[in-house]
Amino acid sequence: MCARLVLFNTLPLHMKQYGTKGLFGGMNIYAYQSRGYCGEAVRIQVTPSPRSISLLGLSAIQMRQFKLKAKALFSLMGKEQPTVLMQIPPNREYASMELAMLLALLLSRDQLLDTLCPDILVLGKTNLDGSIPPMPTLLDAREVASANGCKLLIAPTTVLPYKEENLEIAQCSDIAMALHQCRRFVLYHEGEQKHLVEEPEGSPIKHPFAGIIGLEKAKKALALSAAGTLNILLYGPPGGGKTLLINTLGKLLPPLSETEREEIARIRGEIPKTRPIIEILPQMGEKDIYKGKESLLHLAHRGVLIVDEITNQKEKTLKTLSFFLEKQSFGSYPVSFTLASAMNGCPCGNMGREDELCICSERQRQRHWNKVGSALLDRFDICLSILPEDPMTSPLAQEDPNLLETITEVWQKQQKRSEQTYLKLLPLVSTSLQGRKLSMRSCLSACKMATVIADFRKSEVVTKEDMIEALSYKTYGIDRHWR
Ligand SMILES: [Zn+2]
Repeated sequence: MCARLVLFNTLPLHMKQYGTKGLFGGMNIYAYQSRGYCGEAVRIQVTPSPRSISLLGLSAIQMRQFKLKAKALFSLMGKEQPTVLMQIPPNREYASMELAMLLALLLSRDQLLDTLCPDILVLGKTNLDGSIPPMPTLLDAREVASANGCKLLIAPTTVLPYKEENLEIAQCSDIAMALHQCRRFVLYHEGEQKHLVEEPEGSPIKHPFAGIIGLEKAKKALALSAAGTLNILLYGPPGGGKTLLINTLGKLLPPLSETEREEIARIRGEIPKTRPIIEILPQMGEKDIYKGKESLLHLAHRGVLIVDEITNQKEKTLKTLSFFLEKQSFGSYPVSFTLASAMNGCPCGNMGREDELCICSERQRQRHWNKVGSALLDRFDICLSILPEDPMTSPLAQEDPNLLETITEVWQKQQKRSEQTYLKLLPLVSTSLQGRKLSMRSCLSACKMATVIADFRKSEVVTKEDMIEALSYKTYGIDRHWR
């Protein structure tokens, strides 16, 4: 859980804001593959996946071997494995791809593959203990690296390290060393464009949900959150894609209006280009969050505030969040942001899973949810359970190519709505509740969400179906609304 957090301390805040290449278009890892007299670079394609590690392009035996090695490696490092889909072109020599695959997995765990940075070529194999055995020659790895736009070559220790403008060779005795070299390289080159392999001109901008298979309800929830500036909490077992999803919200937001731009400029002293995406980490204190000039709450104004693993946050942090969400101001400055959070449904994490048993008692679950506190929970307009889906069996829904335009239109409509519109819909809430009890605030937020849902349908009238749909996004874990 903490690897990404620790690393984040060393990364500048703006890395969190996605570069022009987007979340899934970052750095590539290639494996050097020998083909007789000359070699080639085989790209290890990594995309987020809702279920543990899925592999494509390997045989069943290779798959098992890789999963075992990855498991051993991550447990040795005390880290949780990322949930990704790895694709390798079929019929390649597995032994010379394994090291690159493991590195890709480690880097994706730290979210470094999303970084705008030149590519990396990996030459060498791994032993069971993680060491990289010596290789007699470099073969033509240097040429292959250059031809593919790679600026770092990870190589066994028999190769002399050197560095020139377009290629650096890092000798590595084991996988930990290789990981260290890659991280150092990414930090040093972060923000650089690739220099040799140009992206084809006019390549289309990727869909915000590109690479996320299934999870349709959650995608709709995120779209509603972006269009209606609704706070969102996703909960469920680890590996379901919660973190990935809340991190997508930033890409769905409508562009800043002129008024908002001026507002932010007054607070920060500079005109912003994009909506801010700010993350609060468990180790952060009051000083970072709301005291001092560069407080995160200030910076998050009119953007997204991400609080992952919300139950791991300090009590004080959660109280502060609750306070500012209520007050919506900070001295003479306004504070308004969309809160996007994620948490496990219970302390053991298995609640909601079909293949594993939750071992928590009712009291333990209650205590787990109490950590967030009812005041803050009530602030989440959307509270939705996320269950792991199998990418192989998930329906492949066609992504709406106009999603961003629709969100912007709905958002503009919502800006003109007043509290009165929502109040008028309260009777519809009571007839749609079906015996459930909600706070007054939750009822009002359901009214607002129902108008957003109607706006998505381009309808002026809010129907009972809209209201029932709105209420279906309010399933708190203690209500046991798992599906
Ligand atoms: Zn449990």
